[in-house]
Amino acid sequence: MIFREKGLEKRFLHHLVHAARNADIRRFRAEVLAENAPMVHLLRDAGAHVVKSDGAALVLEVPVGPRAEPGTDETQSPLFRVLRALAVTVADLVARAAPPKDFGRPATEQVVIGVDLGGTKIEAIVARRTRTTDLPVLVRHRVSTPAHEGYEAIVQATCNLLSHVAKEAQVDLKTIPIGVGMPGGVTRRTGVVKNSNTVCLNDRPFRTDLQDRLGRPVAVDNDANCFTLAEALLGAASEHRDGVVFGVILGTGVGGGISFGGRVWSGAQGIAGEWGHTAVWPERETQCYCGRRGCVELYASGPAVEKLYTRLSGVHLKLSEIVLRRTSDPHAEAVIEDFLNTFGRGLANVIDVLDPSAVVLGGGVSNVDLLYTEGISRVAGYVFNDELTTPILRNALGDSAGVYGAALIAENGSK
Ligand SMILES: [Zn+2]
Repeated sequence: MIFREKGLEKRFLHHLVHAARNADIRRFRAEVLAENAPMVHLLRDAGAHVVKSDGAALVLEVPVGPRAEPGTDETQSPLFRVLRALAVTVADLVARAAPPKDFGRPATEQVVIGVDLGGTKIEAIVARRTRTTDLPVLVRHRVSTPAHEGYEAIVQATCNLLSHVAKEAQVDLKTIPIGVGMPGGVTRRTGVVKNSNTVCLNDRPFRTDLQDRLGRPVAVDNDANCFTLAEALLGAASEHRDGVVFGVILGTGVGGGISFGGRVWSGAQGIAGEWGHTAVWPERETQCYCGRRGCVELYASGPAVEKLYTRLSGVHLKLSEIVLRRTSDPHAEAVIEDFLNTFGRGLANVIDVLDPSAVVLGGGVSNVDLLYTEGISRVAGYVFNDELTTPILRNALGDSAGVYGAALIAENGSK
Protein backbone atom coordinates (compact mmCIF):
# COMPACT_ATOMS: atom_id res chain seq x y z
CA MET A 1 0.00 0.00 0.00
CA ILE A 2 1.53 3.28 -1.12
CA PHE A 3 -0.03 6.34 0.42
CA ARG A 4 0.16 9.16 -2.05
CA GLU A 5 -3.47 10.19 -1.76
CA LYS A 6 -4.38 11.98 1.42
CA GLY A 7 -8.04 10.95 1.44
CA LEU A 8 -7.42 7.30 0.66
CA GLU A 9 -4.74 7.18 3.28
CA LYS A 10 -7.16 8.45 5.90
CA ARG A 11 -9.79 5.94 4.87
CA PHE A 12 -7.33 3.07 4.93
CA LEU A 13 -6.13 4.03 8.38
CA HIS A 14 -9.73 4.20 9.60
CA HIS A 15 -10.33 0.70 8.30
CA LEU A 16 -7.10 -0.54 9.82
CA VAL A 17 -7.95 0.82 13.26
CA HIS A 18 -11.54 -0.44 13.07
CA ALA A 19 -10.39 -3.87 11.91
CA ALA A 20 -7.91 -4.01 14.78
CA ARG A 21 -10.59 -3.09 17.30
CA ASN A 22 -13.10 -5.52 15.87
CA ALA A 23 -10.54 -8.30 16.02
CA ASP A 24 -9.90 -7.31 19.62
CA ILE A 25 -6.33 -6.31 18.87
CA ARG A 26 -5.35 -3.98 21.68
CA ARG A 27 -1.77 -3.22 20.75
CA PHE A 28 0.79 -3.75 18.03
CA ARG A 29 4.53 -3.87 17.99
CA ALA A 30 6.83 -1.74 15.88
CA GLU A 31 10.55 -2.29 15.45
CA VAL A 32 12.49 0.89 14.89
CA LEU A 33 16.14 1.68 14.44
CA ALA A 34 17.34 3.52 17.51
CA GLU A 35 18.84 6.23 15.30
CA ASN A 36 15.36 6.98 13.89
CA ALA A 37 14.62 9.39 16.71
CA PRO A 38 11.56 11.08 15.12
CA MET A 39 9.80 7.74 14.74
CA VAL A 40 10.65 6.69 18.31
CA HIS A 41 9.34 10.03 19.52
CA LEU A 42 6.12 9.62 17.49
CA LEU A 43 5.56 6.14 18.91
CA ARG A 44 6.12 7.29 22.46
CA ASP A 45 3.75 10.16 21.82
CA ALA A 46 1.09 7.59 20.91
CA GLY A 47 1.52 5.89 24.27
CA ALA A 48 4.05 3.26 23.16
CA HIS A 49 6.59 1.77 25.51
CA VAL A 50 9.82 -0.07 24.78
CA VAL A 51 9.59 -3.83 25.26
CA LYS A 52 12.96 -4.78 23.79
CA SER A 53 16.16 -2.98 22.95
CA ASP A 54 19.50 -4.22 21.68
CA GLY A 55 21.09 -0.82 21.28
CA ALA A 56 20.73 -0.64 17.48
CA ALA A 57 16.98 -1.32 17.35
CA LEU A 58 14.02 -0.88 19.66
CA VAL A 59 10.80 -2.84 19.80
CA LEU A 60 7.92 -0.71 21.01
CA GLU A 61 4.40 -1.72 21.88
CA VAL A 62 1.74 0.75 20.66
CA PRO A 63 -1.77 0.66 22.15
CA VAL A 64 -4.65 0.70 19.60
CA GLY A 65 -6.87 2.36 22.19
CA PRO A 66 -10.64 2.68 22.45
CA ARG A 67 -12.91 4.15 19.80
CA ALA A 68 -12.73 7.96 19.72
CA GLU A 69 -15.50 10.03 21.26
CA PRO A 70 -18.18 11.01 18.73
CA GLY A 71 -17.47 14.42 17.24
CA THR A 72 -13.70 14.21 17.68
CA ASP A 73 -11.44 13.81 14.69
CA GLU A 74 -9.67 10.55 15.24
CA THR A 75 -7.25 11.18 12.39
CA GLN A 76 -5.62 13.83 14.58
CA SER A 77 -4.88 11.25 17.27
CA PRO A 78 -1.33 10.05 18.03
CA LEU A 79 -2.22 6.52 16.83
CA PHE A 80 -3.17 7.81 13.39
CA ARG A 81 0.01 9.81 13.13
CA VAL A 82 2.00 6.68 13.93
CA LEU A 83 0.15 4.60 11.34
CA ARG A 84 0.62 7.31 8.75
CA ALA A 85 4.34 7.54 9.49
CA LEU A 86 4.70 3.75 9.30
CA ALA A 87 2.85 3.69 5.99
CA VAL A 88 5.17 6.31 4.55
CA THR A 89 8.11 4.16 5.64
CA VAL A 90 6.61 1.15 3.84
CA ALA A 91 5.91 3.32 0.79
CA ASP A 92 9.55 4.44 0.75
CA LEU A 93 10.71 0.83 0.79
CA VAL A 94 8.31 -0.16 -2.00
CA ALA A 95 9.35 2.86 -4.06
CA ARG A 96 12.99 1.90 -3.65
CA ALA A 97 12.29 -1.72 -4.61
CA ALA A 98 10.53 -0.81 -7.87
CA PRO A 99 10.24 2.58 -9.58
CA PRO A 100 6.57 3.75 -9.52
CA LYS A 101 6.52 4.06 -13.34
CA ASP A 102 6.79 0.31 -13.80
CA PHE A 103 4.97 -0.65 -10.65
CA GLY A 104 1.77 -2.58 -11.38
CA ARG A 105 0.80 -0.65 -14.46
CA PRO A 106 -2.72 -1.81 -15.22
CA ALA A 107 -4.23 -2.59 -18.61
CA THR A 108 -5.72 0.39 -20.44
CA GLU A 109 -9.33 -0.77 -20.12
CA GLN A 110 -9.15 -0.65 -16.33
CA VAL A 111 -7.97 2.92 -16.28
CA VAL A 112 -10.19 6.01 -16.20
CA ILE A 113 -9.71 9.78 -16.16
CA GLY A 114 -11.54 12.07 -13.76
CA VAL A 115 -11.60 15.85 -14.15
CA ASP A 116 -12.79 18.28 -11.49
CA LEU A 117 -13.56 21.61 -13.12
CA GLY A 118 -13.74 24.19 -10.36
CA GLY A 119 -14.00 27.95 -10.21
CA THR A 120 -10.30 28.38 -9.44
CA LYS A 121 -8.61 25.15 -10.55
CA ILE A 122 -9.04 22.25 -12.92
CA GLU A 123 -7.72 18.99 -11.58
CA ALA A 124 -7.36 15.69 -13.44
CA ILE A 125 -6.41 12.22 -12.32
CA VAL A 126 -5.72 9.03 -14.17
CA ALA A 127 -6.84 6.24 -11.86
CA ARG A 128 -7.36 2.54 -11.84
CA ARG A 129 -11.00 1.61 -11.40
CA THR A 130 -10.91 -1.62 -9.44
CA ARG A 131 -13.76 -3.90 -8.47
CA THR A 132 -13.07 -3.16 -4.83
CA THR A 133 -13.64 0.19 -3.14
CA ASP A 134 -10.18 1.35 -4.06
CA LEU A 135 -9.22 3.92 -6.68
CA PRO A 136 -5.44 4.04 -6.95
CA VAL A 137 -4.30 7.24 -8.63
CA LEU A 138 -1.56 6.88 -11.26
CA VAL A 139 -1.21 10.49 -12.38
CA ARG A 140 -2.54 13.74 -10.97
CA HIS A 141 -2.22 17.24 -12.32
CA ARG A 142 -3.92 20.57 -11.74
CA VAL A 143 -3.99 23.93 -13.49
CA SER A 144 -5.70 27.25 -12.74
CA THR A 145 -9.11 27.77 -14.30
CA PRO A 146 -8.82 30.56 -16.88
CA ALA A 147 -12.27 31.83 -15.81
CA HIS A 148 -11.41 35.46 -16.66
CA GLU A 149 -10.50 34.44 -20.23
CA GLY A 150 -13.97 33.05 -20.82
CA TYR A 151 -15.71 29.93 -21.93
CA GLU A 152 -13.53 28.89 -24.90
CA ALA A 153 -10.40 29.13 -22.78
CA ILE A 154 -11.93 26.81 -20.15
CA VAL A 155 -12.87 24.20 -22.77
CA GLN A 156 -9.37 24.40 -24.25
CA ALA A 157 -7.65 24.23 -20.84
CA THR A 158 -9.69 21.12 -20.00
CA CYS A 159 -8.65 19.47 -23.29
CA ASN A 160 -5.01 20.39 -22.74
CA LEU A 161 -5.06 18.99 -19.22
CA LEU A 162 -6.63 15.74 -20.48
CA SER A 163 -3.92 15.37 -23.13
CA HIS A 164 -1.25 16.07 -20.56
CA VAL A 165 -2.34 13.45 -18.01
CA ALA A 166 -3.11 10.85 -20.72
CA LYS A 167 0.37 11.28 -22.12
CA GLU A 168 1.99 11.05 -18.73
CA ALA A 169 0.06 7.88 -17.87
CA GLN A 170 0.66 6.50 -21.38
CA VAL A 171 -3.03 5.88 -22.02
CA ASP A 172 -5.00 6.48 -25.21
CA LEU A 173 -7.13 9.61 -24.89
CA LYS A 174 -9.44 8.35 -27.65
CA THR A 175 -10.55 5.23 -25.76
CA ILE A 176 -10.06 5.77 -22.03
CA PRO A 177 -13.34 6.53 -20.14
CA ILE A 178 -13.48 10.20 -19.07
CA GLY A 179 -15.69 11.73 -16.38
CA VAL A 180 -15.94 15.45 -15.67
CA GLY A 181 -17.44 17.04 -12.57
CA MET A 182 -18.36 20.69 -12.85
CA PRO A 183 -20.32 23.34 -10.99
CA GLY A 184 -23.91 23.64 -12.08
CA GLY A 185 -26.19 21.26 -13.89
CA VAL A 186 -27.21 20.56 -17.45
CA THR A 187 -30.70 21.41 -18.62
CA ARG A 188 -32.49 18.32 -19.86
CA ARG A 189 -34.25 20.22 -22.59
CA THR A 190 -31.38 21.93 -24.37
CA GLY A 191 -28.27 20.36 -22.87
CA VAL A 192 -26.71 23.66 -21.85
CA VAL A 193 -25.18 24.40 -18.45
CA LYS A 194 -27.34 26.06 -15.79
CA ASN A 195 -26.89 27.29 -12.21
CA SER A 196 -23.08 27.34 -12.44
CA ASN A 197 -21.17 29.78 -10.26
CA THR A 198 -18.46 29.78 -12.95
CA VAL A 199 -20.91 31.99 -14.79
CA CYS A 200 -19.29 31.91 -18.23
CA LEU A 201 -20.27 28.22 -18.45
CA ASN A 202 -23.97 29.02 -18.11
CA ASP A 203 -26.08 28.63 -21.25
CA ARG A 204 -23.18 26.96 -23.06
CA PRO A 205 -23.21 23.30 -24.25
CA PHE A 206 -20.04 22.38 -22.35
CA ARG A 207 -20.37 18.61 -22.71
CA THR A 208 -21.03 18.77 -26.46
CA ASP A 209 -18.18 21.20 -27.03
CA LEU A 210 -15.77 19.08 -25.03
CA GLN A 211 -16.84 15.92 -26.88
CA ASP A 212 -16.51 17.66 -30.26
CA ARG A 213 -13.05 18.92 -29.39
CA LEU A 214 -11.92 15.47 -28.21
CA GLY A 215 -13.81 13.52 -30.84
CA ARG A 216 -15.24 11.08 -28.30
CA PRO A 217 -17.96 10.77 -25.61
CA VAL A 218 -17.44 12.20 -22.11
CA ALA A 219 -19.52 11.75 -18.94
CA VAL A 220 -20.34 15.05 -17.24
CA ASP A 221 -22.06 15.57 -13.91
CA ASN A 222 -22.60 18.17 -11.25
CA ASP A 223 -19.70 18.53 -8.79
CA ALA A 224 -21.97 17.92 -5.79
CA ASN A 225 -23.05 14.60 -7.31
CA CYS A 226 -19.41 13.66 -7.89
CA PHE A 227 -18.58 14.57 -4.28
CA THR A 228 -21.46 12.46 -2.99
CA LEU A 229 -20.59 9.41 -5.09
CA ALA A 230 -16.94 9.54 -4.04
CA GLU A 231 -17.78 9.85 -0.34
CA ALA A 232 -20.41 7.08 -0.66
CA LEU A 233 -18.10 4.63 -2.42
CA LEU A 234 -14.65 5.54 -1.16
CA GLY A 235 -15.03 7.95 1.71
CA ALA A 236 -16.82 8.71 4.95
CA ALA A 237 -20.08 6.94 4.04
CA SER A 238 -18.58 3.82 2.46
CA GLU A 239 -20.28 1.68 5.12
CA HIS A 240 -23.56 2.96 3.67
CA ARG A 241 -22.64 2.58 -0.01
CA ASP A 242 -25.56 0.24 -0.68
CA GLY A 243 -28.06 2.62 0.89
CA VAL A 244 -28.93 6.26 0.29
CA VAL A 245 -26.22 8.83 0.96
CA PHE A 246 -26.98 12.54 0.96
CA GLY A 247 -23.89 14.60 0.19
CA VAL A 248 -23.93 18.21 1.32
CA ILE A 249 -21.78 20.97 -0.13
CA LEU A 250 -21.47 23.90 2.27
CA GLY A 251 -19.10 26.43 0.83
CA THR A 252 -19.46 29.61 -1.18
CA GLY A 253 -22.82 28.12 -2.13
CA VAL A 254 -24.99 25.36 -0.71
CA GLY A 255 -25.71 22.27 -2.78
CA GLY A 256 -26.07 18.56 -2.50
CA GLY A 257 -26.31 15.22 -4.21
CA ILE A 258 -27.83 11.81 -3.69
CA SER A 259 -26.17 8.43 -4.10
CA PHE A 260 -28.59 5.54 -4.24
CA GLY A 261 -27.09 2.06 -4.04
CA GLY A 262 -23.70 3.37 -5.15
CA ARG A 263 -25.02 5.32 -8.14
CA VAL A 264 -25.87 8.99 -8.52
CA TRP A 265 -29.58 9.76 -8.52
CA SER A 266 -29.74 13.00 -10.49
CA GLY A 267 -33.51 13.16 -10.54
CA ALA A 268 -36.04 13.39 -13.34
CA GLN A 269 -35.13 17.04 -13.92
CA GLY A 270 -31.51 16.85 -12.78
CA ILE A 271 -32.10 18.84 -9.60
CA ALA A 272 -32.07 16.03 -7.01
CA GLY A 273 -30.31 17.08 -3.81
CA GLU A 274 -30.46 20.82 -4.47
CA TRP A 275 -31.49 21.77 -0.95
CA GLY A 276 -29.64 25.11 -1.01
CA HIS A 277 -32.62 26.82 -2.58
CA THR A 278 -35.32 25.25 -0.49
CA ALA A 279 -36.83 27.92 1.75
CA VAL A 280 -36.39 27.73 5.52
CA TRP A 281 -37.18 31.36 6.41
CA PRO A 282 -39.64 32.48 3.69
CA GLU A 283 -40.97 35.27 5.89
CA ARG A 284 -37.65 37.14 5.77
CA GLU A 285 -37.12 40.13 3.51
CA THR A 286 -33.87 39.36 1.70
CA GLN A 287 -34.27 38.04 -1.79
CA CYS A 288 -32.02 35.28 -3.11
CA TYR A 289 -30.45 35.50 -6.58
CA CYS A 290 -32.78 32.64 -7.53
CA GLY A 291 -35.67 35.08 -7.09
CA ARG A 292 -37.13 33.60 -3.91
CA ARG A 293 -36.79 34.32 -0.21
CA GLY A 294 -35.53 32.33 2.76
CA CYS A 295 -33.21 29.93 0.87
CA VAL A 296 -30.78 27.82 2.95
CA GLU A 297 -27.90 29.26 0.88
CA LEU A 298 -28.76 32.80 2.00
CA TYR A 299 -28.02 31.90 5.65
CA ALA A 300 -25.72 28.87 5.65
CA SER A 301 -23.07 29.55 2.98
CA GLY A 302 -19.72 30.95 4.09
CA PRO A 303 -20.08 34.34 2.36
CA ALA A 304 -23.66 34.67 3.63
CA VAL A 305 -22.66 34.24 7.27
CA GLU A 306 -19.74 36.64 6.84
CA LYS A 307 -21.94 39.22 5.12
CA LEU A 308 -24.55 39.06 7.87
CA TYR A 309 -21.85 39.55 10.50
CA THR A 310 -20.49 42.59 8.64
CA ARG A 311 -23.97 44.08 8.44
CA LEU A 312 -24.47 43.75 12.20
CA SER A 313 -20.98 44.70 13.39
CA GLY A 314 -19.50 46.81 10.57
CA VAL A 315 -16.42 44.56 10.61
CA HIS A 316 -15.47 41.93 8.07
CA LEU A 317 -14.27 38.64 9.51
CA LYS A 318 -13.86 35.13 8.11
CA LEU A 319 -16.37 32.51 9.21
CA SER A 320 -13.73 30.68 11.25
CA GLU A 321 -12.97 33.92 13.14
CA ILE A 322 -16.66 34.59 13.75
CA VAL A 323 -17.03 31.09 15.22
CA LEU A 324 -14.13 31.78 17.59
CA ARG A 325 -15.73 35.02 18.82
CA ARG A 326 -19.07 33.42 19.46
CA THR A 327 -18.97 33.52 23.25
CA SER A 328 -17.43 36.99 23.53
CA ASP A 329 -19.20 38.91 20.76
CA PRO A 330 -23.03 39.18 20.69
CA HIS A 331 -23.05 39.82 16.92
CA ALA A 332 -21.03 36.66 16.35
CA GLU A 333 -23.34 34.76 18.63
CA ALA A 334 -26.44 35.95 16.75
CA VAL A 335 -24.96 35.12 13.35
CA ILE A 336 -23.78 31.64 14.40
CA GLU A 337 -27.19 30.93 16.00
CA ASP A 338 -28.85 31.75 12.71
CA PHE A 339 -26.31 29.66 10.79
CA LEU A 340 -26.86 26.61 13.02
CA ASN A 341 -30.65 26.97 12.94
CA THR A 342 -30.65 27.26 9.15
CA PHE A 343 -28.44 24.19 8.86
CA GLY A 344 -30.64 22.30 11.34
CA ARG A 345 -33.93 23.21 9.79
CA GLY A 346 -32.78 22.79 6.18
CA LEU A 347 -31.13 19.43 6.74
CA ALA A 348 -34.04 18.17 8.87
CA ASN A 349 -36.33 18.89 5.91
CA VAL A 350 -34.11 16.79 3.66
CA ILE A 351 -33.99 13.96 6.21
CA ASP A 352 -37.78 14.06 6.57
CA VAL A 353 -38.20 13.48 2.85
CA LEU A 354 -35.27 11.22 2.03
CA ASP A 355 -34.43 9.54 5.35
CA PRO A 356 -30.92 8.78 4.05
CA SER A 357 -28.62 6.10 5.48
CA ALA A 358 -25.97 8.78 6.05
CA VAL A 359 -25.24 12.44 5.39
CA VAL A 360 -21.71 13.59 4.49
CA LEU A 361 -20.69 17.24 4.75
CA GLY A 362 -18.22 18.79 2.33
CA GLY A 363 -17.09 22.23 1.14
CA GLY A 364 -15.12 24.84 3.09
CA VAL A 365 -17.83 25.46 5.68
CA SER A 366 -17.91 21.74 6.59
CA ASN A 367 -14.68 22.40 8.52
CA VAL A 368 -16.69 24.23 11.20
CA ASP A 369 -16.55 21.77 14.11
CA LEU A 370 -19.74 23.14 15.65
CA LEU A 371 -21.74 21.49 12.86
CA TYR A 372 -20.90 18.03 14.21
CA THR A 373 -22.03 18.85 17.73
CA GLU A 374 -24.56 21.65 17.99
CA GLY A 375 -25.39 21.48 14.28
CA ILE A 376 -26.50 17.87 14.68
CA SER A 377 -28.55 18.79 17.79
CA ARG A 378 -30.35 21.47 15.77
CA VAL A 379 -31.14 18.93 13.04
CA ALA A 380 -32.49 16.61 15.74
CA GLY A 381 -34.64 19.45 17.04
CA TYR A 382 -36.32 20.03 13.69
CA VAL A 383 -36.56 16.48 12.32
CA PHE A 384 -39.97 14.79 12.28
CA ASN A 385 -38.97 12.07 14.68
CA ASP A 386 -38.39 11.61 18.40
CA GLU A 387 -34.72 10.86 17.76
CA LEU A 388 -32.09 11.42 15.09
CA THR A 389 -30.03 8.35 14.29
CA THR A 390 -28.85 9.49 10.84
CA PRO A 391 -25.03 9.66 10.87
CA ILE A 392 -23.98 13.20 9.87
CA LEU A 393 -20.36 12.76 8.91
CA ARG A 394 -17.33 14.88 8.10
CA ASN A 395 -16.02 14.07 4.61
CA ALA A 396 -13.02 11.75 4.42
CA LEU A 397 -11.62 12.63 1.00
CA GLY A 398 -11.22 16.39 1.41
CA ASP A 399 -10.61 18.34 -1.78
CA SER A 400 -10.09 15.13 -3.74
CA ALA A 401 -13.71 13.93 -3.53
CA GLY A 402 -14.72 15.86 -6.66
CA VAL A 403 -12.01 14.44 -8.88
CA TYR A 404 -12.50 10.89 -7.54
CA GLY A 405 -16.24 11.16 -8.15
CA ALA A 406 -15.58 12.33 -11.70
CA ALA A 407 -13.39 9.26 -12.26
CA LEU A 408 -16.19 7.08 -10.85
CA ILE A 409 -18.76 8.41 -13.34
CA ALA A 410 -16.35 8.03 -16.28
CA GLU A 411 -17.76 4.72 -17.43
CA ASN A 412 -21.18 6.38 -17.90
CA GLY A 413 -19.68 8.39 -20.77
CA SER A 414 -20.51 5.87 -23.47
CA LYS A 415 -24.21 5.77 -22.50
ZN1 LIG B 1 -32.34 30.77 -3.63
